[in-house]
Amino acid sequence: MKDSRRNFLKKFAATGVLIPLANTFTEAYPIKTDRKLRVALMGLGSYATNQLAPGIMKSQNCELVGIITGTPEKAVKWKEKYNLLDKNIYNYENYETISQNPDIDVVYVVLPNSMHAEYVMKTAKAGKNVITEKPMSVSVKEAKEMIAFCKNAGVKLGVGYRLHYEPFTNEVMRLAKDKDFGKIKFVETKFAWKNRDIKAWRMNNKWSGGGALMDVGIYCINASRYATGEEPISVTAQAVKTEPEIYRDIEETILWQLKFPSGAIASGMSSYATNAHELSVHYENGSLFMSPAYDYGPLKGYTSKGTMDIPIVHHQAYQMDGFADALLNNKPILTPGEEGLKDMIIIEAIKKAAETGKEIKIKY
Ligand code: NAD
Repeated sequence: MKDSRRNFLKKFAATGVLIPLANTFTEAYPIKTDRKLRVALMGLGSYATNQLAPGIMKSQNCELVGIITGTPEKAVKWKEKYNLLDKNIYNYENYETISQNPDIDVVYVVLPNSMHAEYVMKTAKAGKNVITEKPMSVSVKEAKEMIAFCKNAGVKLGVGYRLHYEPFTNEVMRLAKDKDFGKIKFVETKFAWKNRDIKAWRMNNKWSGGGALMDVGIYCINASRYATGEEPISVTAQAVKTEPEIYRDIEETILWQLKFPSGAIASGMSSYATNAHELSVHYENGSLFMSPAYDYGPLKGYTSKGTMDIPIVHHQAYQMDGFADALLNNKPILTPGEEGLKDMIIIEAIKKAAETGKEIKIKY
């Protein structure tokens, strides 16, 4: 943990000098920037409206200065609510002209999954830094194109893995690194929610690129990687579909088993047919259990040493401040495109393993 942000969070977790658990929000993000990061949100749906915009308002180092929306009524509402200037409000027809706007530092793409690649690359072409929501793309091919495109355009690409910025997840990462309980032997991850809305884009492969695995299984894959601190080398998987009329061209429930170079195993499950939010890590000499482990919070958990007495933070505020720190202080982004690409590679391997019934080697 070279990074001072992580060290700050590590100190919180390790010293025992902690804010009491009762859902207390920590004070501001530990690092302040000289000026605020000026953010424009693209795609004003549920996540942008209910989580990211409030997160930007709660952050100490960011401001919401612009929007990109195809719905004129939303433009009117957001302009009033967030005091936006007309010149910073775009639609999808005039979006390219954002290249002429010096008052926006970064665009955050919060569109349906299959639109991420197109709008990340349009943003890069306009010369703007870009953050995209998870999953970063709907294929490995697209993810690689996005990374190369941003690199060639000289802009930075981040992925909205909010958990990497919050302290519970940083404690799981720290335990993998410092080995308080010894080597990691077995990880179990489950993330599922009941989704039966057949009209929603998430239920249509063309827009979502897959079902529960793309949407929430990606948290489990990412957790298996940060809980071990390793990259998996092979996978077996099983897909189950009990209601094909609802989950037409997407997976309903999928289970997988990842093997890691150290010999650690991670078992995962994601589903649209039930609810689950768990992470367990079994070490040589102890264990960790978190539930909920991936939601907006408050996250909760305990280890063999007792309750995880860790500050509760606003995930999106912390994430946005983390991006501000990286972009304005010229540091590496904690969750760059390359982090998203690894998860996409594993997702494709899981799908192939479920389709073929074979153990699939994972190549990065
Ligand atoms: P949503 O359906 O609520 O919002 C999608 C937005 O995209 C809407 O404003 C919609 O009008 C707009 N849009 C533009 N073109 C569209 C089209 N052709 N079809 C459908 N919508 C179109 O979805 P959401 O829940 O806000 O998810 C958006 C993205 O954010 C997804 O990639 C999702 O995975 C991600 N997300 C991340 C988190 C997280 O915790 N990091 C949480 C929720 C969603």
